[in-house]
Amino acid sequence: MSARNPSSLCDILGQLVMGVSVANSKPDLYDAVAKHLPLLIPADRVSIALATADDTELEVIALEGLADTLQQGVRLPCNSRTLVGDCWQRQIPQMATISENSPYQDLVVLAKQGLMVAMSAPLITSTRRLGTLNIATTCADLYGESELELLAQVSAMVSATIERLDSIYHSQVTMERHRRYAERLEILNEMGRRLSTAKTEESTFHTVAEAIEHVLEAERVSYVVPNPGGQSCQIFALTGNDVIPKAHSFPLEGSGIAAVLAADRPMAFPDLAAAAYREHAMLVSQGLRMGWSVPIHMNGSTVGILNAATKITWPFPEDALTLLSALGGFMETTLERISAQREVETTLQQMEYRAFHDSLTDLPNRYWLDRTLRSDLQQHSVDHTRLAVLFVDLDGFKEVNDSLSHSIGDRLLCAVAQRLQEQLPADGEIARMGGDEFIVILRNVQSNDDVSDVGQQLLNALAPPFFIQDQPIQVRGSLGMSLFPDHGETPDELLKHADLAMYAAKAGGRNRVQMYSRPMSERLQERIELEQSLQQAIARDELFLMFQPQIEMATGQICALEALVRWRHPERGLLSPGLFIPIAEEIGQIGDITAWVLNRSLQTLAALRSHHPDLYVSVNISAQDLLEPLRLQQHIQSALEQYQLPGTALELELTESVFFQHASTVEGTIDRWRQQGIRLAIDDFGTGFSSLNYLLCLTIDTLKIDRAFVTSIQDNQRTQGVVETIVSLGNTLHMTCVAEGVEETSQLMKLKELGCCKVQGYLLSKPMMADQLLEFLARNSSEGLNSLLAMHSVSSSGKPL
Ligand code: C2E
Ligand code: MG
Ligand code: MG
Repeated sequence: MSARNPSSLCDILGQLVMGVSVANSKPDLYDAVAKHLPLLIPADRVSIALATADDTELEVIALEGLADTLQQGVRLPCNSRTLVGDCWQRQIPQMATISENSPYQDLVVLAKQGLMVAMSAPLITSTRRLGTLNIATTCADLYGESELELLAQVSAMVSATIERLDSIYHSQVTMERHRRYAERLEILNEMGRRLSTAKTEESTFHTVAEAIEHVLEAERVSYVVPNPGGQSCQIFALTGNDVIPKAHSFPLEGSGIAAVLAADRPMAFPDLAAAAYREHAMLVSQGLRMGWSVPIHMNGSTVGILNAATKITWPFPEDALTLLSALGGFMETTLERISAQREVETTLQQMEYRAFHDSLTDLPNRYWLDRTLRSDLQQHSVDHTRLAVLFVDLDGFKEVNDSLSHSIGDRLLCAVAQRLQEQLPADGEIARMGGDEFIVILRNVQSNDDVSDVGQQLLNALAPPFFIQDQPIQVRGSLGMSLFPDHGETPDELLKHADLAMYAAKAGGRNRVQMYSRPMSERLQERIELEQSLQQAIARDELFLMFQPQIEMATGQICALEALVRWRHPERGLLSPGLFIPIAEEIGQIGDITAWVLNRSLQTLAALRSHHPDLYVSVNISAQDLLEPLRLQQHIQSALEQYQLPGTALELELTESVFFQHASTVEGTIDRWRQQGIRLAIDDFGTGFSSLNYLLCLTIDTLKIDRAFVTSIQDNQRTQGVVETIVSLGNTLHMTCVAEGVEETSQLMKLKELGCCKVQGYLLSKPMMADQLLEFLARNSSEGLNSLLAMHSVSSSGKPL
């Protein structure tokens, strides 16, 4: 060994320091020390021995140089019988001669390699005696105090580095723990975030299961729900090992699930093989060792069991159970939230459904229609396609509703809704507007004819009678149609125009389809104006009466006068009742008009009665009037009283439909009239409902044979037959028959021949003004029927009556 100069020593020290400081791990460090140390302190052998965990032995963990004895891995006792043990115990650097006689056992062994002197210095950190750094040389006089001192310093440096590595290691371990912790927190955060938006039980389970797989390192996570009846259960959802697959049902008896259900608390199964549960045995067959089960509750009852199983063995299974319980808690709150949310959604859906559907027929309602039409129209204007709105209104529904019952009416509407619905084409939808009005939307319409065809099919569907409570009921419909964009661009316009067309269909004879056209709007405008001015007509004294006499065939004498109302419209001139009475009925004006007619006709009669005491006046009563029988009765009563006339001075003309519609209500009212001596006539007999039952039940005085029969009586044998039948029916039931609309002498003769008692018609007299009556009656009194016929021939020759 040669002496080194200081500068090369500095280099060597630098290398050693460098080798030590770049070491990332203890083995690297020990190797670097063992390798570089002989350059600083000449040595033939360098070793590092570290104390075992129990501090009883020192193990050689790094070795350079002579390595035949005390090789790496050899363990030496930690006591004073070895140099390393002595140094470790006393914690001071030691130098000793190596010989076969040495008191140190390790030196005895080293002597075999020819080594002469050994030095050991302690490796120590602030918390632990780590071991020793040892060198040995074959030169007997190479080491002295300064080498020992240097070894001690290198040892201190190595110790400091070990301490640094330790603290790095510890901080790495700590950091790793924190990293894992943070990772788990991140998994849990992610789970929480996903659970907050989970919408189904399935997705809730999978989110929780994913977290369980990470946190518990679970091989299998399952959610088991009890089947109804409580005898078995089923795997509702599953991740991982599927030895017992999803949807599999198994009996509860003898199962771990049953044990958890019975205990109703989280349970750990640290050794799945130990418990004799059937499904656990299947898991064990797949290498699963530990298991945990947590009952999931909702609103106080157990709805399922969350289970996890691992292949690894957790040192603290109860901790894992706590963790699973916490995750089960997340599942519980999420399931409860989903269930509550579903309830709210269901309620909202029901509310929405109710808001947009008709409660009677369950069809969409007018709000739905408005919303749907709006969006449909937007779409159709983008696509440049056409859309049709069909307005269906039932004919005769009101009669059914009033005459039968509202509950039958309701059932009829439901049946109608169903039939219409069955006729809808693929692109069609139907809504109920209210009452007996239905709207059909047809999308992507190709031609007007297509729309009309669908409309006709809808009406045809109504043709077969409906059977409600085994009762056949016949209703038909009138249908108006409007098209987008041809007839309007907004829902309101289209509906208004389809309504108008429906109106026209009704006016055109009902039970028909009608496409909207512009002139309808103009007619509507006229109609609106008419309605408005009709409301003022009585107050402005624009109504007046004309009277048409009824003549007794046998005597030729006038027995009655039918009061017929007229309206002198300020702009449109004379308007007939056929035009304005239906409007008055619709706008609720008819009651006032009837009251006015009753009053004025009795006033006129009162003036005539002094000369013609048996004369009576016949007044037309609208069906609408009978909806308020008390009011009508009051008007009759007050007019009779005002002009001091008996009931026999008045006849009331009702149409057949009145008896059909108001059968139950009219009965009492008619009784009262009868008691007063008021006559009752059926007007336009033969044109209304064919049910003649009422003729038997009610006491009726007069049948007015409709003009239609009289007109064709001459040419048509069958009509003659009908008239003859009516006359004989009248005779049988003690009713007088009045033939209406007699225009020709031949008709008069025929009626006489058939036994008809009374006649009314242009042949005898057109309706006349009140001031003409007195003279007319006087002439008739003296000259009888011939005078009237003569007058007629005069009037027909062109001279005014
Ligand atoms: P109605 O009660 O059947 O009255 C008979 C109608 O036939 C009257 O028409 C009368 O002018 C007409 N007429 C009578 N003889 C002949 C004839 O020989 N040939 C023809 N072509 N027609 C004849 P008007 O006055 O236009 O009345 C029509 C309908 O209006 C009436 O039919 C009645 O239903 C109703 N009406 C008239 N006045 C009133 C009223 O004050 N109240 C109510 N509610 N309805 C009324
Ligand atoms: Mg009449
Ligand atoms: Mg009539």
